[in-house]
Amino acid sequence: MNVVITGGAGFLGSHLADAYLRDGDCVTVIDNYVTSDGSNIGHLLEHQHFHFVQADICVEFPALPEKPDLILHFASPASPIDYAQIPLETLAVNGPGTQRCCKAALAYGARVLFASTSEIYGDPLEHPQRETYWGNVNSVGERSCYDEGKRFGEAVMAAYRRAHGLDARMVRIFNTYGPRMRANDGRVVPTFIAQALDGAALTVFGDGTQTRSLCYVDDLIEGIRRFAALPNPAHFVVNLGADHEVTVLEIAQRIARACNVDLRVEHRPLPPDDPTRRRPDLSRARELLGWEPRTPLEIGLQHTIDWFRSKRRSLTCL
Ligand code: UDP
Repeated sequence: MNVVITGGAGFLGSHLADAYLRDGDCVTVIDNYVTSDGSNIGHLLEHQHFHFVQADICVEFPALPEKPDLILHFASPASPIDYAQIPLETLAVNGPGTQRCCKAALAYGARVLFASTSEIYGDPLEHPQRETYWGNVNSVGERSCYDEGKRFGEAVMAAYRRAHGLDARMVRIFNTYGPRMRANDGRVVPTFIAQALDGAALTVFGDGTQTRSLCYVDDLIEGIRRFAALPNPAHFVVNLGADHEVTVLEIAQRIARACNVDLRVEHRPLPPDDPTRRRPDLSRARELLGWEPRTPLEIGLQHTIDWFRSKRRSLTCL
């Protein structure tokens, strides 16, 4: 199978590329390196079934070396710090960028899967969040470029299904962590790990009672691939993530413990529109995919901390 991954040099995209190549598929990554560099895919460049195209799909969908069977549209800034810095690019890649992916999928007769997000639920009034929930989003707030960009992307996918019968699917990805996150991308897990390894205080926003549920990257990748492979699924939208809810303060405690440091917390103001609670209802994913987020938080955090440690060691050796 030929798989195209937009944003394939990023955190999730590069793990997807690894997984498909491991199974003997051919992978083409399209990325403009706006929030990544080549480090996540450096080990793939010599692989005989791997192609890299540096291009911005907001400008055009590039020519491909092979006809794709599956397009995974994962190009987008995804951390609050990133999308606040480039809000217009964030809107463009999820709006016109998604339209270009759908158009290409239609022209090639390929299936397309869009990386949507739990952010489309906003600060949810329904808990846990089921796929049928429409969300509670501030359309003009600081997160709106991402939240509304992804909502528009979902609408594009749904319209292409209806208007053209395109096999367009989407996964709503809840907080995911693991190796290859950027230490400075502002998200809670890499930030706390970097601070703990530096012996610095952990910056807890607000009082730290807001909750998230954290999914280890390998589990998420498995869920995405199962959904992408399913013939004629009964649903075209599915939540993926973990459903063990923890407070941000608890995340800080666990990371400090796993890094063997005493917990020191520095409270900072809660960013605007920061959701108070978030946890997916995973009934649909379990039923449709026979899938389960299996990695306990303790183990996933340890793998991630080990990766950050080894990356630091290799940087200091340079
Ligand atoms: N957070 C925090 N300190 C940080 C970074 C994040 O307390 O240095 C909090 C943030 O306010 C949010 C949670 O951790 O409540 C998850 O934030 P993240 O940016 O990882 O993801 P998202 O807000 O998109 O769920």
